[in-house]
Amino acid sequence: MESKGLLSHDEAKPSSEESEPPGRMPDFAGMKRAESSVQQSSRSHVVFFNRPEKPRHAVQSTPRSFIISPRSRAFYKRFFPGITSAEWNDWQWQLCNRITDIKGLSRHIALSDRESKAFAHHGGMLPVSITPYYAGLLDGFDESQELRRTVVPVHDEFLRTPGESVDPLCEEADSPVPDIVHRYPDRVLFLVTGFCATNCRYCTRSRITGNDNNDSIMQESWDQALSYIASTPAVRDVLLSGGDPLTLPDESLEWLLERLRRIPHVEFIRIGTKVPVVLPQRITPTLLRVLKRFHPLWMSIHFTHPDELTPEVSQACNRLADAGIPLGSQTVLLSGVNDSVATMKALMHGLLRNRVRPYYLYQCDPIYGSAHFRTPVEKGLEIIRGLRGYTTGYAVPTFVIDAPGGGGKVPLLPDYVAGRDGDYVVIRNYAGDSYQYPDPDGTIGL
Ligand code: SF4
Repeated sequence: MESKGLLSHDEAKPSSEESEPPGRMPDFAGMKRAESSVQQSSRSHVVFFNRPEKPRHAVQSTPRSFIISPRSRAFYKRFFPGITSAEWNDWQWQLCNRITDIKGLSRHIALSDRESKAFAHHGGMLPVSITPYYAGLLDGFDESQELRRTVVPVHDEFLRTPGESVDPLCEEADSPVPDIVHRYPDRVLFLVTGFCATNCRYCTRSRITGNDNNDSIMQESWDQALSYIASTPAVRDVLLSGGDPLTLPDESLEWLLERLRRIPHVEFIRIGTKVPVVLPQRITPTLLRVLKRFHPLWMSIHFTHPDELTPEVSQACNRLADAGIPLGSQTVLLSGVNDSVATMKALMHGLLRNRVRPYYLYQCDPIYGSAHFRTPVEKGLEIIRGLRGYTTGYAVPTFVIDAPGGGGKVPLLPDYVAGRDGDYVVIRNYAGDSYQYPDPDGTIGL
């Protein structure tokens, strides 16, 4: 069984045993230094992982083979005129040049009053972070553009409404050791970093992604988390999340995956990420070589809108799928962004074309300041009703509410049971037509 997989991993490549490999964790302090110095030098990203002598990514990736869409090319030629296409396609360059403040944002888009007012507030806001690649997808003049709404703050974020909290899913309460959330019997969530390439304004974990101090905390707690998993035989499934695990350096991911694969009862590893969408350049051949060593490895990718399905994202998804990684999507239902059957259908169809199986559609969690993003629950049911039967079954995600207070995911379905007629249960199909099914011993529909 899984121990075979373990042996093959260990045999395939001798591990570094108990010692910590250099570069195990990203050097966020170095990254911040790099961010500040990037204004002076487009090569400042070489300090990102403390390898000033030779940037390892130069041999890790094949940036020239990665596509650049006409839109992205026009964007970088306008806003980053001094850089080469190889630099644009370098994921570390993208990280070091993230847009993180009003000055940077104003270079790319004309901020509306609502957006400017958000920056006028002091404190309490999830930091802004947008990769140049994703910034290139934003409409510079339309504040209602869907993608722009998901990453550019507005002053509504400072409104507090009933039922909202900083940790609506009560993950902290189900955390036996730092960075582990153990809610369901056989699986854990392992928050491996607090860093994201691009911050979503509706982030459920903004308590982590918005916390400047979380990186050192996470560094210290990996060992504790791994020990917890190793000493808990019930855990057969580990979901790496955060923050975004794919922002970690290859060496860190490899180290972590090796450690997990050494635990006999861990059968299944998943990575939750938005990186293929906001930083598709990260999906390098070297990363794929690392990931391929740790099958079965699955990936849940956070998609929001069909406009995210660019040629770059398509290439990233194809690379992952070609590496044998089953891809699923997770989408948060957001008011004014993707809350229509037409938009959701376009997204789900696009995902299938890109070899991504729609997995979850989430009702937006009641995180502080998210009221402007939340839809009535009925909207999610309306969307499922508009998909089921009208398109491929694979294109229909499961609509869930992650129950506030820590109840876990609760699936919601439109009601297709219309009642009962004697020994028959009466059901309605997708078009609303009624049918009877013989069910003499049943009680459903009574
Ligand atoms: S990618 Fe996920 S963890 Fe990161 S900001 Fe977006 S929702 Fe939050």
